[in-house]
This record gives sequence, structure tokens and C-alpha cells, in this order.
Amino acid sequence: MHSSRASHPDTPVTTSGSLDHALGLELAALEQKGLRRVLRPLSNRRGARVREGDRVLVDFSSNDYLGLASHPEVAEAAARALVEAGTGAAAARLIAGHHELHAKLEQRLAQFLGTERALLFPAGYMANVGAIPSLVDRNDGIYSDVLNHASLIDGCRLSRAEVHRIPHGDPAALEQALARTGERYRRRLVVVEGLYSMDGDLYPLDALVRLAERYDAWVYLDDAHAVGVLGPNGRGTVEHWGVQADIPILVGTLGKAFGTAGAFVAGSATLIDFLTNRARAFVYTTGTPPALAAATLAALEVLVREPERRARVRANARALRTGLAALGRSVPGPSDGHIVPLVLGSSEAVMAAGSALRDAGFLVGAVRPPTVPAGRGRLRITLSAAHTGEDIEALLDSLRRNLPG
Ligand code: PMP
Repeated sequence: MHSSRASHPDTPVTTSGSLDHALGLELAALEQKGLRRVLRPLSNRRGARVREGDRVLVDFSSNDYLGLASHPEVAEAAARALVEAGTGAAAARLIAGHHELHAKLEQRLAQFLGTERALLFPAGYMANVGAIPSLVDRNDGIYSDVLNHASLIDGCRLSRAEVHRIPHGDPAALEQALARTGERYRRRLVVVEGLYSMDGDLYPLDALVRLAERYDAWVYLDDAHAVGVLGPNGRGTVEHWGVQADIPILVGTLGKAFGTAGAFVAGSATLIDFLTNRARAFVYTTGTPPALAAATLAALEVLVREPERRARVRANARALRTGLAALGRSVPGPSDGHIVPLVLGSSEAVMAAGSALRDAGFLVGAVRPPTVPAGRGRLRITLSAAHTGEDIEALLDSLRRNLPG
């Protein structure tokens, strides 16, 4: 006998009851605090332009810092590889899912970064929840900057190591913590980001590497927002500070400056061999589609061949920051930093400003807790090499009219 569900295949099945009731209450509480999030579909990304419904918006919210997410050469490389290599890797890399394109990209990334080797992960989130728990355990101590990304926090939690939360960007506080507690542990891992995604400031890596050496700690650097963008050759904050040889564990993501998706850990051959064996988020997941590796290879070629993209995003950042200063807004981070946070405070103020800017034709990140601390809601404006001088002038004009106070 058919159930009534089976006879109405187009009707969604609702499993009402205690689950929906309990979750509905939590969603209502989020709504009341102005913290409920919804997905809004976009289409047709072309440089810094995206379509929403029948409107075209100028995107100042993405991490497509070099404008490579819609580069024809990158898309064509992916399309060719899709036909040749298929749509999926079909298995975990250690089973039947390791493709020549993965190997080639890993070699090319290591060569670009000046490390012995690199290992791909399907996402930056997975790199962090995979690598950190493989490196340290309950016998060890982690020294983690309080503003670290959720994926780093989760990786630290999964490891079961003792986590010391260190005030943001403060090597002196880090030193105190290392001096006070370092002796307790078998291993010490210092976890920081090179360029902070919500604050736009750089971690002083020069001071950090001196401390790491003095206290025999390993540095785990997540350079998601700077790799490809900072440094004379785009190698990120390690190149910016000249500390390439002193960072044993370097993570970068490919969904930002590279305009594709995925992530890598780069370091010594031994580190990569170890992670290949022990990082569970690598071992137990399907390999990324080989065509994605082909896309990233093409993106890397463009990135290396066209240093003017890095110069342009920096010039754009400088123009926006200069314009904001003229509006009386001080913004943290370097004067040419491509992540520009405007802290407004309450979630309501941030949402209202974000919505007014959207009405004016601009997509700007409206960032609320828990992504940032309570009372520190902000507009997160990101620059891309794809923005024109006119885009920035138009955004400044709109900010002048729409920012509170
Ligand atoms: N690390 C940092 C610092 C990030 O900002 C992000 C994503 N925004 C990630 C890791 C996660 O990377 P992915 O999006 O590739 O999962």
C-alpha cells in the first residue's frame, strides 16, 4: 500500500514535532537579536559585478582579491579538464582519487611558495580542522590569537591540547604566556593568521618568529587572506615580513586570491608526508575534483604573470582608505590593506547600513556576532583588482550618505 507521502511526490515532507519546535525557538531568538542569517542567491559574476535578480551590483564583499574568480583563462582550464578528467576524483586521494593534476598543483604551489612540498585540502576549514589535531594532542599547549578564524578555533578544540587564548596581535602577551606555561608541554603550537579577515591588520610575524625560536614553539600560520596578494611575489605575509624560512606550517586558501576553491598546507617534505598519513580531514575525504586543480594551476599562472593585479588591489585599497579618512573614519590595518573594516557597533546599525548600500547598488559585508565580538558589528569592505577608480568613488559617495553619525 502506498503511503500518502509517496502519492504526492511534489509535496515536501514536513517532519513537524519536537525538532522543528526546538529549532524554531532558537531561530526566533536569533531573529529577535538581529542575528538571523539568510541566503541570497547571486549569479553572473564578472569581475567585481554580480547579478542579484534583475539588478547588477558592485561587489565589495567577496574575497576575490585579484579578480580571478571569473577569469576566462581559469574557467577554460577547468572546462578542458572537466572533459578530460571527469567531474569528480571518485575516491579519497590515498585510494583511487589522486590525479596527476593534484600532484602538479602541489608541486607548483610548493615552488611558488618556496617550500619543499604542499598538500591540498578540499577547503581551508578542513585544512585547519585536519592539520592542527594531527600535530598536537592532550600533552601539548596551543597559543591561539583571540581573533583567529572559526576553523582554527575548531581545529584547536578537536586536538584536545590545552588552548591559551592570547590577546589579539600582541607578541608581548604571547611571550608572557609561553614563559609562564611552556614548560608544561611536550609541544607548543602558536596559531595566528597573517592578515586578519575581519580586522584587516597584519600579525607582526617578525616578533613572532623570534619568540617561537626562543621558546621552542612551532608557528602555524593561516595566511588565507594574504597569500597571492601580499609580498613582492604574492607569497603572502611570510614574504612581506621576510620570514619564509621561519614558518614551518603555512596554510593558504584557494577560494580567495586564487578565485577557485580549496586550500593547501605548505612546509617540509616531512610535514607533508606526516599530514598525508595523519590529517583525518585529508585521509577520509574524497579528493577535490581534478578540474579544480587545473583551474587553480591556471589561476596561479595568471597571478605570477600579472603582478599588476597585486599593485591594483593595493592602489584601490589606498584610495578607499584615503577617502574614508577624509570622511573622518579611521580604519585599522596598513594604509594599503585590502580588508577595510568599519566598526559600527550594534547588529541593527550594521544591517541598516548594509541594506542601504545594497539599495544603492553595492554589496558590502555586514558582519555580526558570533563572527565578530558582541557590540563590534561592522561593515567589511574588501577591495579587488577588478574594481575601478570610479567604483571606489561611487562607494565612498554612498558611504558618505549612508553611514550613521
Ligand atoms: N582561514 C581563514 C583565516 C579564513 O578566513 C577562512 C574563510 N574565510 C578559512 C580559513 C576557511 O577557508 P575555506 O573557505 O576554504 O574553507
